Amino acid sequence: MARVFNFSAGPATLPPAVLEQAAAEMLDWHGSGMSVMEMSHRGAAFESILDDAESGLRALLAVPPGFRILFMQGGGLAENAVVPLNLSRGGAADFVVTGAWSRKSLLEAARYCDAGLAADNQEDRRRSIPPAASWRLRDGASYVHLCSNETIDGLECHELPDLAALGCTSPLVVDCSSHLASRPIDWSRVGLAFGGAQKNVGMAGLTLVFVREDLIGHALPTCPSAFDYRLVAENRSMYNTPPTYAIYIAGLVFRWLRDFRHGTLAGLPAVEQHNIEKAQLVYDAIDGSGFYRNEVAPAFRSRMNIPFFLPDERLYAPFLAEAQARGLVQLKGHKSVGGLRASLYNAMPMEGALALVGHMREFAARHG
Ligand SMILES: *Cc1c(COP(=O)(O)O)cnc(C)c1O
Repeated sequence: MARVFNFSAGPATLPPAVLEQAAAEMLDWHGSGMSVMEMSHRGAAFESILDDAESGLRALLAVPPGFRILFMQGGGLAENAVVPLNLSRGGAADFVVTGAWSRKSLLEAARYCDAGLAADNQEDRRRSIPPAASWRLRDGASYVHLCSNETIDGLECHELPDLAALGCTSPLVVDCSSHLASRPIDWSRVGLAFGGAQKNVGMAGLTLVFVREDLIGHALPTCPSAFDYRLVAENRSMYNTPPTYAIYIAGLVFRWLRDFRHGTLAGLPAVEQHNIEKAQLVYDAIDGSGFYRNEVAPAFRSRMNIPFFLPDERLYAPFLAEAQARGLVQLKGHKSVGGLRASLYNAMPMEGALALVGHMREFAARHG
């Protein structure tokens, strides 16, 4: 069996150790005589799986006790509606539009509340995130939305804004779908964070929502009950059947991240340092080549998703075909921006980044 290096933006590569454990437990989970996907979500076995996943995630990201972790469905895209349905009270919400995902969030929220554009980076051709001091924040807005990693544009917010220091009392809502658990989160600056599991912490079907307790319980009457944070929280994410198998896989990934080692580091600091080094390898290969281009300002470059471009349109097909022949797959850029994109999520090993860089150097030497 040959595993490829999968640079997909999501669903994305998973740690082989997690897949192996899931395979070993597929027919008989811990002597239960059944697979996790066959279990009642109300039974003791599944309850222990959910408890384990929740406590693993809480410990990994140091989520404070004043936050609830909700295991939901619908993906980041559903949260674009679910957040305003729960938080806006039909009033105002402000959006920082730094790329394709935050633009979608603004447009979806506009169906449920007075969604305002606080800032965008059009003038800068999407190469940076405007400083928080320049955002047009409205008094009394129910929340401020920020996508902390723009998956398509390859922009990452490396330090969350301190809205309180700017005199803004609205909670910050963070779409962290594509860099969840790749680095710590400063919870003192966040009211709510959400993200799908399929990029960095597991498989499709599970959406994680971290929500400060005071923001729960204000859903609009039109909010579907299965998406009402109060009902989900009161029922410990079992108001209706949760995505049981996806929760189990995420729990295995949280353990894998907890035990991750890099140099002298362990756990999330090791994961973060590993991610920094992998991304640096690829950015260095781009910048030092005089051949490849990435246009994002260095201070805002994403560690997770690296879009890059070739000097000649005709080179994309051979670049991708030769990469594929080397077991480097899913490197095509998003259709809206074209070019190439390497996603280097938590489970991408250093060897994958090195193999990609090797291919890039060799290809540039032949075509540059
Ligand atoms: C992938 C992604 C989403 C959407 O996730 P779905 O699970 O497809 O709904 C939302 N926001 C960001 C930043 C993403 O990367």
